[in-house]
Amino acid sequence: MNRYDVIIIGAGPAGCATALFLQSRGYRVVVLDQARFPRDKVCGEFISPAADPILEELGLMDAIEQTQPVRLRGVAISAYGNEALCIDYPPHPQDARPMTSLSLPRFVFDHLLVKRLRHAGIELREAHKVDDLIFENGSVVGVKVRDGDQAPLTLKARMVVDAGGRNSIALRRLNLKQGSARQRKIALAAHWTGAQLPHNYCTMHISPPGYTGMARVGDDLLNVVLVVDSKLVKGRERTSFYTEAVLSNPLRRKYLAGAVLKGPVRAVDSLSYRVKPVPCGGLLLVGDATGFIDPFTGEGIYLSLRSAQLAGEVLDRAFRSKQFSREVVQRYEGLRLREFHKKFTLSRILQRLIYNPWLCRRVVTALAANPDLAQQLVGVLGDYMPAEQVVSFRFLVKTILAGLRPQSGKRGCKNFDFRRLLKSADPE
Ligand SMILES: Cc1cc2nc3c(=O)[nH]c(=O)nc-3n(C[C@H](O)[C@H](O)[C@H](O)COP(=O)(O)OP(=O)(O)OC[C@H]3O[C@@H](n4cnc5c(N)ncnc54)[C@H](O)[C@@H]3O)c2cc1C
Repeated sequence: MNRYDVIIIGAGPAGCATALFLQSRGYRVVVLDQARFPRDKVCGEFISPAADPILEELGLMDAIEQTQPVRLRGVAISAYGNEALCIDYPPHPQDARPMTSLSLPRFVFDHLLVKRLRHAGIELREAHKVDDLIFENGSVVGVKVRDGDQAPLTLKARMVVDAGGRNSIALRRLNLKQGSARQRKIALAAHWTGAQLPHNYCTMHISPPGYTGMARVGDDLLNVVLVVDSKLVKGRERTSFYTEAVLSNPLRRKYLAGAVLKGPVRAVDSLSYRVKPVPCGGLLLVGDATGFIDPFTGEGIYLSLRSAQLAGEVLDRAFRSKQFSREVVQRYEGLRLREFHKKFTLSRILQRLIYNPWLCRRVVTALAANPDLAQQLVGVLGDYMPAEQVVSFRFLVKTILAGLRPQSGKRGCKNFDFRRLLKSADPE
């Protein structure tokens, strides 16, 4: 039986980054993934500007730049029929560096991560599905695996990191996932060629029956992701539902006039969920296994890379002190929550806004009238400005009131409970 320092379940962004951070500190790791690479993934396919330094540290940036990825200048947003409002990422607050987000197909990005693992000499076992965790004295000490030939295998290590994404084995085995089936969403995604998107922005369109995120991911390749209530898709043929819904919006119709689908329409359950604290030692969760917010703000890859960085630091300390107990896990979870909590709250506020046409239109009007507010928000969404700047009662009221100014009446606002909106988004 092999003995490793750390077993990592999943070779997505979170698992690969954790492996690279740990290996660079001298730990012996193995990465297990049920898939064979390259494999595809439904995603908006743009990566927050704040991820650049982490990708640099992981030694990935040169390989990414060689693919000549698209660089997005910011976010373009249109709500319920408004014209699109383009908001540039503001310069970095510390050194005034111009900021952009990387945009490239996940098929390419995830494959570059896996190649980086191999290049670094990290053991990656593809087509290895983890079926269960192994416990000793209440702590996780290994995993039960089936290889590509369905042969059972047992691997042991001092620590197990579950980077298995939204259906990770730890979430299922320890019953850690909390989500509401009432809000079940589905994301349908496809690449298009021949589109006429006039700019290099991540373009968010909010209009019934849901919203779309569009971004160029190559020279003549546009990624269009549609997120809708999953009930709407039941019994419908996927491709016709997707194209009908995408083309039902006049702006999108304009951008996609003459464009054709390249490849199939793919689907993924897009339910947001929270995750309860890990109740045992020996196990850390990273990436989507720690929770998932609706993809409207598209920052899961950055959060995955950053949680891997934090996990690397905490695990290094754990190995130095030979402590793998639940306290180590709690220390990591505390660090992660402290850093991401406000950001999650902001994402939940935006979730509530986008499904409220009255409020949503006013917020977009406010952002158009007040470029400073708009850039502040986009800088926070880009993960390089502190979320505290915008997750406040003051910011919310200021934004919504600014959106009302050009209108004659304020009647719609009178009964709106701003405090309730903030509180419901931040129940902790
Ligand atoms: C519709 C949609 C749009 C999105 N758009 C964006 C965006 O534009 N930008 C952005 O930054 N983020 C976006 N995200 C989020 C982003 O895709 C995720 O946050 C990111 O992929 C999480 O990475 P991960 O490594 O945690 O998990 P994953 O990328 O899901 O990787 C998990 C890996 O674990 C493997 N695995 C799972 N279980 C097992 C097992 N039992 N045994 C072995 N292997 C296992 C899987 O095969 C997989 O390779 C979007 C998500 C959705 C749903």
